[in-house]
Amino acid sequence: MQLLDSHCHLDAPVFKDTAAVLQQAGAAGVKGIIVPAYQADRWQVLLDMQVKYDQPTLRLWPALGVHPLFLAEYRPQHLDLLAQYLAQQDHIVAVGEIGLDRYEPALREPELWQRQVALFEAQLALAKQFNLPVILHARRCHSDIVRCIKRVGLNTGGIVHAFSGSFEEANNYIALGFKLGFGGALTYESARRIRAVAAALPQSCLVIETDAPDMLPSQCRHMTQNHPANLFLVLASLANLRQTSAAELATALWQNTIDALQIQEFL
Ligand SMILES: [Zn+2]
Repeated sequence: MQLLDSHCHLDAPVFKDTAAVLQQAGAAGVKGIIVPAYQADRWQVLLDMQVKYDQPTLRLWPALGVHPLFLAEYRPQHLDLLAQYLAQQDHIVAVGEIGLDRYEPALREPELWQRQVALFEAQLALAKQFNLPVILHARRCHSDIVRCIKRVGLNTGGIVHAFSGSFEEANNYIALGFKLGFGGALTYESARRIRAVAAALPQSCLVIETDAPDMLPSQCRHMTQNHPANLFLVLASLANLRQTSAAELATALWQNTIDALQIQEFL
């Protein structure tokens, strides 16, 4: 089985031994990991990690961006820096993790909300300029995100990570060329809407992720942190919901992720 984790924060400091985490992931069938960034002062760390650990049997594909929950760490010069990285590093597969968040009360305040939108649209504009897809963080603001994408005119699509919206909201993203990412939430029987949406969407617009070290699957909820090696639990859950074979589904999901991020796998 060849699994692709479409969202894992492998550079998070809690992963103290990267080689061991990757070894474990590889043994559990993970052969590719998309590693999105969250704040500018980690970009070089993430790129160095990619150079050090990317290998033919377990590919690492980085994305660079500023996450909305790290708005406080953002400085205007980071946009110029991001543009420089995107111009120079041709193995960056997407701009991400970027987006909007209405879940955190502080970020809903008018001033911070405006700053979120401005930062998001500026990063969408960079993705458009460099013809790159995006990896989206979207909590309780799907219509705002769709509006921003249309306003900027981004047509490269990408992935909506940890999708938790409705079937209709999913279709709005699909119409813009996006795939929807499903992770640990799928493994909880109480997550009825997410499970129903994941079961009903066309297979061609699905991808899976761990979001490690976050989003522990139900089987591991006693653990302190999630690992990319747990991706098979998400796959098993999705295969079960869709009543299909896990092996066939894994092959399709691999290709969906490659397509969403226009990855040149063997270059
Ligand atoms: Zn993330």
